[in-house]
Amino acid sequence: MAQPFGLAGVMGWPVSHSRSPLMHNLWLKQHGIQGVYVPLPVQPERLADALRGLVALGFAGCNLTIPHKVAAMAHVDEVDPLARRMGAINTVVVQPDGRLKGFNTDGFGFWQSLIDAHPGFRAEAGPVVVLGAGGAARAVVLSLLERGAPRVRLLNRTEDKARQLADELDAQGRIDVLPWSEREAALAGGALLVNTTSLGMQGQPELDLRLDALTGDALVCDVIYVPLETRLLRQARERGHVTVNGLGMLMNQAQPAFHAWFGVMPDITPELQQAMLATL
Ligand code: NAP
Repeated sequence: MAQPFGLAGVMGWPVSHSRSPLMHNLWLKQHGIQGVYVPLPVQPERLADALRGLVALGFAGCNLTIPHKVAAMAHVDEVDPLARRMGAINTVVVQPDGRLKGFNTDGFGFWQSLIDAHPGFRAEAGPVVVLGAGGAARAVVLSLLERGAPRVRLLNRTEDKARQLADELDAQGRIDVLPWSEREAALAGGALLVNTTSLGMQGQPELDLRLDALTGDALVCDVIYVPLETRLLRQARERGHVTVNGLGMLMNQAQPAFHAWFGVMPDITPELQQAMLATL
């Protein structure tokens, strides 16, 4: 029997900025799979219809980006337990019986990007400082807790949102919510600092943070990938810290989704990295 034509895409509103089509189409080509991955501009009020349409159109599944990651949970038939804890899905896989199953691969992508940059890093290494309490923070905090981070110091401009995140992640008291104004003092003794806010992203204000309290061997990570080196990462690099930008998280979160749809685990090749860098 002829191989079915592979179809997948990313639903967002807007979606034209997404680099996912570039990645997945390159992987389809590299693996000789006939198919295409398309941007799918889906208005929030059409999300349920669009997700159901995947089955009728013969899609293997889709990714979800802003603003659909939370809302989509209500429109799939089953949600993976980790994604349920995270409170958001970024990947939908059409099951053989036509049911839709939701996953979240952002946490995996984040963790893998840390390990790629610093293979010896262990979550147990010490307290982790996470700035922000939005969607990216949920994935980052949960992935670190799952891998044994002893304590997470969580700071967000809107403190209530950080408290809500801590309550929802059910972290057995391992998350300490601190006021945003204490973000410099909170760095003392931290093994890892992660910025998950949009501060420092192109078009956004800079993150205002002095790193003096951070010990020399701490890892510094920013989930932002435009620009590739934020002011935070530049400051950290100049102080001699190992730094990790958001591009690795973006590429690594895509791998398990591609595998779930097309049955092959793709590699992050130099060709893919070059192609992605050329768009930034
Ligand atoms: P989000 O849910 O909208 O959260 C935004 C976060 O930024 C909130 O914690 C918000 O604080 C904070 N923030 C925004 N403006 C601020 C300001 N002026 N001062 C202090 N804090 C501010 O967004 P998200 O989905 O988590 O995305 C956050 C960033 O991560 C974006 O830059 C996005 O591109 C990036 N990201 C990267 C990847 C990747 O694969 N590399 C994946 C997902 C996201 P409040 O709660 O106080 O508003």
